[in-house]
Amino acid sequence: MGLLSQGSPLSWEETKRHADHVRRHGILQFLHIYHAVKDRHKDVLKWGDEVEYMLVSFDHENKKVRLVLSGEKVLETLQEKGERTNPNHPTLWRPEYGSYMIEGTPGQPYGGTMSEFNTVEANMRKRRKEATSILEENQALCTITSFPSSSICCRLGCPGFTLPEVKPNPVEGGASKSLFFPDEAINKHPRFSTLTRNIRHRRGEKVVINVPIFKDKNTPSPFIETFPEDDEASRASKPDHIYMDAMGFGMGNCCLQVTFQACSISEARYLYDQLATICPIVMALSAASPFYRGYVSDIDCRWGVISASVDDRTREERGLEPLKNNNYRISKSRYDSIDSYLSKCGEKYNDIDLTIDKEIYEQLLQEGIDHLLAQHVAHLFIRDPLTLFEEKIHLDDANESDHFENIQSTNWQTMRFKPPPPNSDIGWRVEFRPMEVQLTDFENSAYVVFVVLLTRVILSYKLDFLIPLSKVDENMKVAQKRDAVLQGMFYFRKDICKGGNAVVDGCGKAQNSMELAAEEYTLMSIDTIINGKEGVFPGLIPILNSYLENMEVDVDTRCSILNYLKLIKKRASGELMTVARWMREFIANHPDYKQDSVITDKMNYSLILKCNQIANELCECPELLGSAFRKVKYSGNKTDSSN
Ligand code: GLU
Ligand code: MG
Repeated sequence: MGLLSQGSPLSWEETKRHADHVRRHGILQFLHIYHAVKDRHKDVLKWGDEVEYMLVSFDHENKKVRLVLSGEKVLETLQEKGERTNPNHPTLWRPEYGSYMIEGTPGQPYGGTMSEFNTVEANMRKRRKEATSILEENQALCTITSFPSSSICCRLGCPGFTLPEVKPNPVEGGASKSLFFPDEAINKHPRFSTLTRNIRHRRGEKVVINVPIFKDKNTPSPFIETFPEDDEASRASKPDHIYMDAMGFGMGNCCLQVTFQACSISEARYLYDQLATICPIVMALSAASPFYRGYVSDIDCRWGVISASVDDRTREERGLEPLKNNNYRISKSRYDSIDSYLSKCGEKYNDIDLTIDKEIYEQLLQEGIDHLLAQHVAHLFIRDPLTLFEEKIHLDDANESDHFENIQSTNWQTMRFKPPPPNSDIGWRVEFRPMEVQLTDFENSAYVVFVVLLTRVILSYKLDFLIPLSKVDENMKVAQKRDAVLQGMFYFRKDICKGGNAVVDGCGKAQNSMELAAEEYTLMSIDTIINGKEGVFPGLIPILNSYLENMEVDVDTRCSILNYLKLIKKRASGELMTVARWMREFIANHPDYKQDSVITDKMNYSLILKCNQIANELCECPELLGSAFRKVKYSGNKTDSSN
């Protein structure tokens, strides 16, 4: 999750003193990059996925599962055996926030040919196998978005949810000061604990996460937890909510991301905008995180949890107190949906109040940057740097970009617009960030291939999905609710071909008022958006299918792609469950479940054990996968695509 500098981290007070310096030089670094590569064209389409993993350990005797705090060691071994031994190694491994997490990507980006879609799953399998092979007995690599955990017990002095067992230590001087989440579960690279501590110090109090609890038959109503030992917790926790108080409850979750290299800056801006509208839709489709801190919640996606877990805004910035020491009211956390479109076509749909650093905005305009890009950057730069290393304060702005990356990489939004690194042959890129990670490599490949194919179709058919950005924000809220995939209604553009000539650089129709825009979109279900509905919307899958029909694709690849699209199609129609729905049913049907929204250690154990069996194809799960994975497993026999 972002830039990893080495060195001695500064405290929040020291970092704050350097904030203007970091911003000033960050902008100079951005300008150097921009001027050097703004006209770069003809970069080829490349893309890559990122999968985040959790390391777990099963205690079969006591029916427990715990998170193993060995991510740093596992990562070291994987890198040593992999990229450091062979620069062409097929996998790359990176650290993540939790010391029980690692992140894996393909060793080289994928290219633009269709046959590459047929290598994604094999590569993900390779990653799973590679990492699994160095784990200890009874340990496993899991792709679950949020660990259900029963850390609920920690407070009562019961053993915790980590291995080795460590107790949270909510004292001054700790990074999180959490009642539940021990600092030992944070990655040992100083970036992560410094981020955690500095977010808390900047905010002036612990972060506050309140997730609505799922009210089952025997769930106390109101559901109230008391925290007599902790003032902050007593004040912050809400009735009928699961209260959490640490960055780890958010950033300790796993996701699935895709990054694309566009052929030019304007294509990147166009893709950034188009995909922004798709974020809530695919997030709901990938929903996989219904449980938090040992309870069944009423949400299916991690997004809002992470958002709150890194919300470093002060009370003034959040609008709770008059502005005195801070410069702005800021309406969103650093981890949130995007606030402005970047392409000319998007301009008329920019209807969210945008807080910007005016000086930076003016400076960028003077340097020849257009209004839309200038306001985007000036918006990112309202934030303070959260970490700074003593050795990394004075940089060569023409050849380094750490200060720019410092601010950029701690703006965790649904989409990220990524300028090339200085002096590299990498092009302009966009990152698609909302997806939750799925249990199996098959599902993860399906979501990745769906999104990448969609970008091809958007570019080839010049599709236009834009709607007012405030509507995309409303969609984000709906997308996280329980069963949003079947019950949610989402604003979506009715005629996505209407842009017709909405080419990358220019714009389709000159339509100025938002009233006109209002007729362009309507509320649709995910099923309608994905599968289409006669007379309402053609559906993304039918469009992808017709694109595929016109492409030359080898039989094997076509078969795999159709299989992936089928999974997406059936998740959208409800024929197959989302991971979130499946997990809910698993817990609801567990013999120990008392319909009180509590997930015990034993239930957690059964669930994660089952997830691990499914991921390793030791058992089937037709509710989640249909009979698709069997065909992939016996890959010689892919002729039956009837399901
Ligand atoms: N784990 C975070 C998430 O679930 C993303 C961290 C990153 O940016 O890599 O969204
Ligand atoms: Mg990551």
